[in-house]
Amino acid sequence: MSFVLGYKCSLCGAEYALGEVEYICPKHGDMGNLDVMLDYAAINRASSPATVGESRDFSIWRYAPLLPVENRGFGESNGSNPLFSVGWTPLYRAKRVAASLGLRHVWIKDDGRNPTASFKDRASAVAVVRALEIGAKVITTASSGNAGAALAGMAAAVGLPAVIMVPQTAPQAKVAQLLMFGATVILVKGPYDDAFDLNLKSAKEFGWYCRSTGYNPFTLEGKKTAAFEICEQLGRNPNSKAQTPKWQAPDRIFVSVGDGNIISGIHKGLKDSFALGWIDKMPKLMGVQAERSAAVYNAWKAGTETIAPVDATTIADSISVNLPRDGVRAVRAATQTGGAYVAVSDDEILGAMRDLARGVAVFAEPAGATAYAGLVKAVREKMIDPNESIVVVNTGNGLKDVKSAMQAAGEAVRIDPTLDEVRRVIEARK
Ligand SMILES: *Cc1c(COP(=O)(O)O)cnc(C)c1O
Ligand SMILES: [Zn+2]
Repeated sequence: MSFVLGYKCSLCGAEYALGEVEYICPKHGDMGNLDVMLDYAAINRASSPATVGESRDFSIWRYAPLLPVENRGFGESNGSNPLFSVGWTPLYRAKRVAASLGLRHVWIKDDGRNPTASFKDRASAVAVVRALEIGAKVITTASSGNAGAALAGMAAAVGLPAVIMVPQTAPQAKVAQLLMFGATVILVKGPYDDAFDLNLKSAKEFGWYCRSTGYNPFTLEGKKTAAFEICEQLGRNPNSKAQTPKWQAPDRIFVSVGDGNIISGIHKGLKDSFALGWIDKMPKLMGVQAERSAAVYNAWKAGTETIAPVDATTIADSISVNLPRDGVRAVRAATQTGGAYVAVSDDEILGAMRDLARGVAVFAEPAGATAYAGLVKAVREKMIDPNESIVVVNTGNGLKDVKSAMQAAGEAVRIDPTLDEVRRVIEARK
């Protein structure tokens, strides 16, 4: 806790002490997301890229001095509990994918490799530790699926009861995952936005600790760890004997955007790293939305921070959002870094799922592959210099949504058990 100075409202700039408000700035209804302010000078006295680099903790908790919670005191660490094995996901060099796009340096950060198979574990791990710190008896969230699964999983890891509200249209595998972790699962008849509003009301009514995205300030703090990992992993040269490992920021990072909390979290992580002097440039942040769920893209394109709701429909259920809850900070993530927004069609998303799986062996769910579809489009629209170093974040595992995977990959052939049949299949593949 010692490195947290307090909260600052992202809309009006008002500052609060940590215990003074719980979720959002009281001046703007249910909006007014808070940024956690850190004491960078104190962090630099206690920590550095070198000390972090020596950590044997290969999870988000290697960045504990930069996080607003204490992970100590719950008895376990270093992977002995799923809560402590979130993060430090692989960063793959995608050479064939890069070549196919005419680029030289492309990396895929595979966050489908988290304990519950999505990026959302980063946020839920931090929110669960926060809930334990303040003695919450129940934790709750609205979710399009993954945030709920992550919270249900992380809550199960520490035996904390969880209540999860999802739209009734959530993919079956995601609902199964929620039920499996023992959460109280409530399917809400309506879009995600209805589940969100009902969740806030329920949390207030029943005194539950609310993790909902774009409302709880700690989700962003968990998500920022992906930026730390990208810069630390890019700076690591396994063949180098250098004593002080340097962090290395890429030129651009592509992220899919629904509520806008992931891109805002990555932005926060980069801002922290830059303010600490641990990176020497800010990457350009590239937000990617589905064409028919593009409220943040629309605002960015119109040059405004006012987010107008849309009637969202896309195969990428994790980013199907009418009114993004972290839209203002999501617009700024692009405008303040010289980045941009890109909108892609569902067909482009399905194509990106195939290309990622075949080009770099990463099986992404539609919303995960959306970031890569954005890179393809940005290359086509000549927004990228071939020499740039580019990181694309896959935010969710393809097994989360098998129906969409089948739609992208097609059906397998079915044959009689004869060699002639096999020969016929092989010939047809040529
Ligand atoms: C939640 C989610 C996103 C989008 O994150 P936002 O914070 O809502 O913008 C993207 N991909 C996957 C797989 C997700 O679960
Ligand atoms: Zn405010």
